[in-house]
Amino acid sequence: MNAILLLSYLIGSITFIVGLKMLSHPDSARKGNLVAAFGMTLAIIATIFLYGRDSGAPLHNYGWIFGGLAIGAVVGTLAAKRVKMTAMPEMVSLFNGMGGACAMLISIVEFNHLLHAGTENIGKGILLIIILGLIIGTVSFAGSIIAWGKLNGSIRDRRIPGGQMLNFILLAGIVVLAVLLLAGSGINPDVLFYATLALAALYGILFVMPIGGADMPVVISLLNSFTGVAAACGGFLYDNPVMLTGGILVGSAGTILTIMMCKAMNRSLKNVLIGALGGNKTASAGGSKEQGNYKEISINDSAVLMAYARKVFIIPGYGLAVAQAQHVCHELEKLLEEKGVEVKYGIHPVAGRMPGHMNVLLAEADVPYEKLLEMEEANQEFSTTNVVLILGANDVVNPAAKEDPSSPIYGMPILEVELAEHIIVNKRSMKPGYAGIENDLFFKPKTSMLFGDAKKVLQELVSELKNL
Ligand code: NDP
Repeated sequence: MNAILLLSYLIGSITFIVGLKMLSHPDSARKGNLVAAFGMTLAIIATIFLYGRDSGAPLHNYGWIFGGLAIGAVVGTLAAKRVKMTAMPEMVSLFNGMGGACAMLISIVEFNHLLHAGTENIGKGILLIIILGLIIGTVSFAGSIIAWGKLNGSIRDRRIPGGQMLNFILLAGIVVLAVLLLAGSGINPDVLFYATLALAALYGILFVMPIGGADMPVVISLLNSFTGVAAACGGFLYDNPVMLTGGILVGSAGTILTIMMCKAMNRSLKNVLIGALGGNKTASAGGSKEQGNYKEISINDSAVLMAYARKVFIIPGYGLAVAQAQHVCHELEKLLEEKGVEVKYGIHPVAGRMPGHMNVLLAEADVPYEKLLEMEEANQEFSTTNVVLILGANDVVNPAAKEDPSSPIYGMPILEVELAEHIIVNKRSMKPGYAGIENDLFFKPKTSMLFGDAKKVLQELVSELKNL
């Protein structure tokens, strides 16, 4: 391989690792993204102009390559610029699906090359990698498209009768077809190959379809790791170190995130893999249970309560992102601190609609990172907290997760805000959150509801505090 090409791949691989490391802290995340993007650009340009030169077979179809690059760059840039922060997870899912589709297409193209060359001349190892790339890429593509539809509300959760068994049968079918293809069973390889593709697509759809409630974060990060593994298969296939490194990094980072999400949601990975997630639980019907009365609190009373508190915890949730109220939230925090109140944020790992959503949101408003406490740390501090201010969070503070075995979020660790002296909940109505279930917390004697859009309410709280 051309020495400059190899060097570019080495630089590309290093930038991925450095970029990923930088992504682990909000202060450096933006730069980390740029560093990795630089490495990826370098690897792509070097491949286009240097690949195959030494062997006298350079790439030649530049029109197609640059046409594709231009379309992808324009669509990607416009989508990323226009996307609302709250719609980010949908976009991530869609883009992840595109990665899976690429891996699937690579496998289709390379399988056809193999067929023309005569499968008997080709090592089984290559065929195995093609099949793995096909299966994993297709599952990731189909699953991500369903996840995208579910996140934007166009696809509803569907419980498929016997779905778990069906998923098992499909998985077994995929394995059998792949083994027959590898073993050269005499059955038309084309038929086996495209049947594998069809079953993998069906599995991807059925595996994500029933998942709902609070379990989507796990499946999103799992699909992300699938795409990484599928891309790594492409790296093996083309003997391309940068593709291999990128794929392995995405695969392993996605797997670690999946495990962390599983822990946060108190689910086992086994349940996720067999598609049982959320499938064996039924939501307690929202509103059907007699909840009693809730009490409301005024802006003025809320401001006074917080201004004279020793310690206030802010719990951000999806509603804060919807209202884009992070800046005014930071302003409130600074005002309270000026009055001698200790202010901290309690961050639930699945608050919002994507892993790390609240960290990104608050970093955007320059909230100091040290003020953000992870769930376990925050839970230890609530008993010494005077006021908890919940801003557009619901599922992540729902006690049903601890108390109601029939709840779809049962078992998920929550922010135990009830341990604090007073709880103020800001949201616009009594409507449920993402999991679609009632929240008993809103009816507890310690809790007061502060209705309204988070941004408007926070602006009013800020002006009230300025006058105190
Ligand atoms: P929830 O979705 O449970 O609740 C958000 C609340 O915000 C709603 O009840 C809504 O009530 C309120 N709200 C909406 N808009 C506004 C606004 N403008 N101002 C004030 N309040 C508003 O959010 P949580 O963050 O508590 O929980 C996240 C949920 O999303 C979990 O179930 C999680 O599993 C799931 N999820 C998380 C993902 C992740 O990776 N983090 C990915 C996919 C799903 P109202 O309409 O009355 O205002």
